[in-house]
Amino acid sequence: MNTSTKTPAAITLAPLPYAEDALEPQISAETLRYHHGKHHAAYVSNLNTLIAETPYVNYSLDEIVMRSEGSIFNNAAQVWNHTFYFEQLSPSPRPLAEGALADAVIRDFGSLEGLKNEIIRASTALFGSGWVWLVCDRRDHLAILPLQNAGNPLTHSLTPLLAVDVWEHAYYIDYRNRRADSVGALWDRVDWTVVSERFCRMMRK
Ligand code: MN
Repeated sequence: MNTSTKTPAAITLAPLPYAEDALEPQISAETLRYHHGKHHAAYVSNLNTLIAETPYVNYSLDEIVMRSEGSIFNNAAQVWNHTFYFEQLSPSPRPLAEGALADAVIRDFGSLEGLKNEIIRASTALFGSGWVWLVCDRRDHLAILPLQNAGNPLTHSLTPLLAVDVWEHAYYIDYRNRRADSVGALWDRVDWTVVSERFCRMMRK
């Protein structure tokens, strides 16, 4: 087979896993239309342009995030981060059930409310644009990791469990400058079954 004509698979925009208005009132349809349809889509488009004619075109998105820097890293990580972010939200979010993750949350934050407060605190303390992550280290300890810009826990050898987007584009239409309020509202849309599955998948590795 002549592989020289093989076209590498382009990085694609993961479809929003629910309707644009499905997370109202916490997140408006207008916000999701811009956040997914414009911002997330632009990172995908930019990344495909940047990696064309480079070795990265043959890498998976995870590999690009792990191995790149500069503009390619920024766009690749933003693609990764947004897919992860949208996946964890739900029109009918399921609560945190008893189990390994619930035990770890109680051990490391006292309660789910304690975790929420720490995430809101970290979100307001993060200067500029970035992400606040709930992560797990190799000893199964949970921690909150604020990272500026497109920062991603994979490059810190940490497993991401939950992503809070604190770029203004994530909340400014609905909440203007009230970042803490936007994170508090986002909390009500987090599907803890998704977060627990991420934790359990990591524990099995
Ligand atoms: Mn965003």
